[in-house]
Amino acid sequence: MNLVVLGAGESGLGAALLGKAKGWKVFVSDFGPIDPTTQNVLTKNEIEWEMGGHTKAKLTRASLVVKSPGIPEQAPPIQLLRKRQIPVISEIEFAARYTQKPIVAITGSNGKTTTTALTHYLLQDGGLNAAMGGNIGNSFAGLLLEGPASHYVLEVSSFQLDDIADFKPHIAVITNITPDHLDRYGYSFDAYRDAKFKISENQTAADFLIYDGDDPNIAAGMQDHTIRAQKLPFSLENPVGQGAYIEEDNIVITIANNQIKMPIASLGLQGQHNLKNAMAAATVATLLDIRKETIRNSLTHFQGVEHRLESVLKINNVQYINDSKATNVNATYYALESMETPTVWIVGGVDKGNDYAELLPLINEKVKAVICLGIDNTKLIESFGNVVDLLVETSSMQDAVNVAYHIAERGDTVLLSPACASFDLFKNYEDRGRQFKEAVRKL
Ligand code: ADP
Repeated sequence: MNLVVLGAGESGLGAALLGKAKGWKVFVSDFGPIDPTTQNVLTKNEIEWEMGGHTKAKLTRASLVVKSPGIPEQAPPIQLLRKRQIPVISEIEFAARYTQKPIVAITGSNGKTTTTALTHYLLQDGGLNAAMGGNIGNSFAGLLLEGPASHYVLEVSSFQLDDIADFKPHIAVITNITPDHLDRYGYSFDAYRDAKFKISENQTAADFLIYDGDDPNIAAGMQDHTIRAQKLPFSLENPVGQGAYIEEDNIVITIANNQIKMPIASLGLQGQHNLKNAMAAATVATLLDIRKETIRNSLTHFQGVEHRLESVLKINNVQYINDSKATNVNATYYALESMETPTVWIVGGVDKGNDYAELLPLINEKVKAVICLGIDNTKLIESFGNVVDLLVETSSMQDAVNVAYHIAERGDTVLLSPACASFDLFKNYEDRGRQFKEAVRKL
């Protein structure tokens, strides 16, 4: 039985090692370079590999192919395998075949990592031996190799869902659906939305789908897809029978005859978007019978995830916030919405076809200066030049932070929330966030 793994990133390596442990003859093939540590691990485990290209004959010998989420459908090796009718699946599909434990899978355009980390935190506090991974940290396959767990809490991207067949989470969460990654979906928003809904396609009436009941794109998706799972919406706007909603500054969660309430004010994470993430995570915890007291306590103590509206430092009574993970407009919308003081906003990078119109009211209300940080700032200048009193172009993080420092006055906030990808000036969003924090610490 030949298993070919395309791509030797985190999930490719996990799939290769799991495949090997389960008795497959594994071959790993990467179009680009493979990092030396991964090379060593593969060799040590007697797994054959190649890099810098694919050997056709070795690919077509496969009885099964696991493809990394980064490889698009149009890539030549995928086209070749499809033509030969060799099954190509994603790593979460492959891993799921080797466990019977319940899966909690979380997808959405924004809030996946935060909701996944919070859910995992609630389940662990509740005494469950839950493991967390997927698009965050260790791959699902890697988790299975780590040892037993009672539940798997997985962050899953639409790319990972594209190539599932039988993957069936007991509890699925869709945090929201807004335009992102459209380049991978033929610029079709419907195709991207369909990929997200795949999270529920194998669910049965014994399973649950938790989703944002206020999101019109999810509502439209619900119309177009048959959902067999029990539906549990969360809503900030309307009361719901089963699911979660807000009543007099409390979150109310109802599942069957069980109801729990907790005050919004006690939540550890700020902002409307985090309120939604908390409702989703607490609904999962309630479904898994975690005690009300534990859920309330854990929601109070959860400190959030690095680079997501992360408080860095207060200097001269100016608060510095790192939201480097905001790589699209919707994420930045929620960041600006949660600002409670005049804000000096650092924005920019690689534009993924952004439409900034929806930010304008918030900018009018909250932003006193825009600091552009990117190689090409034309669109930012066009969009915001007439909206704010002050707009400055910068070309390094140190520069941007220094300018912000001079503009900000006591009581203000300096917010890095770029609404763009990072790879014009930085390695990735983590590098951008770390450079921001270093620059702030040097002030
Ligand atoms: P993802 O894993 O889906 O990229 P993260 O939890 O890493 O999501 O958050 C990405 C960005 O989106 C951050 O800037 C964060 O503040 C913002 N964000 C978090 N939750 C939500 C939400 N429910 N809706 C919109 N934006 C959100």
